[in-house]
Amino acid sequence: MDKLLYKRILLKLSGEALAGDQKYGIEPQTIHAFAQEIAEVADLGCEVVLVIGGGNIFRGMSGSAKGMDRASADYMGMLATVMNALAVQDAIEKLGRETRVLTAIAMREVAEPYIRRRGIRHLEKGRVVICAAGTGNPYFTTDTAAALRAMELKCGAILKATKVDGVYDKDPMKHADAVMFKRVTYLQALEKRLGVMDATAISLAMDNDLPIVVFNLFTKGNIMRVVLGEDIGTIVTG
Ligand code: UDP
Repeated sequence: MDKLLYKRILLKLSGEALAGDQKYGIEPQTIHAFAQEIAEVADLGCEVVLVIGGGNIFRGMSGSAKGMDRASADYMGMLATVMNALAVQDAIEKLGRETRVLTAIAMREVAEPYIRRRGIRHLEKGRVVICAAGTGNPYFTTDTAAALRAMELKCGAILKATKVDGVYDKDPMKHADAVMFKRVTYLQALEKRLGVMDATAISLAMDNDLPIVVFNLFTKGNIMRVVLGEDIGTIVTG
């Protein structure tokens, strides 16, 4: 059997990633492709926690920019992550893998409430655990939820899936001469605002020595590469 570098991972998928080529909503083919990659690493014996964003449906900041109360808008954003979580759950289960959605906002007809010990038990049984509704608190992001859940559920690393190959000195979508780093420290990421994750998430990871691997989600096989310890993307550590 291939040797796993990480026995348990937390994979952070942004909502945008689920929209595929569209700007909004959920694109079934894209989700199916991600589900396949997730099922493949789970089949190798890697325990997988997913934290899914909601930006493809609603972001609290855009609601508040249009005059909505920020906290109410953030709750809408959290509800958007639940829709995404159910879509990803469906796609993974179609491939024959057991999953559980755990929500930080109770809605027991839809999913289990997030209970840390239950989450760990599901992982031990080989179920893919999908954490929905962020942290359950307004003014946070799903990046922060990813860092928090990764620590609570004792994951070996956060895999931060992005549209680009890693962390760059400037936005590679806008600057052709942008240089990618192989390794950056938490402090460099914070001080230089390298756009790895938001500052709250990075600080939380830093305080608990949790590595963050930033990599391109759209290169097929990349989740597996990270799990097997191939040197791709950028690693953020102390
Ligand atoms: N959100 C929140 N608290 C959390 C996580 C998320 O209030 O703990 C809200 C916030 O409004 C955010 C939205 O949910 O804009 C969607 O999450 P996020 O923007 O992190 O999604 P992504 O950018 O990863 O798609």
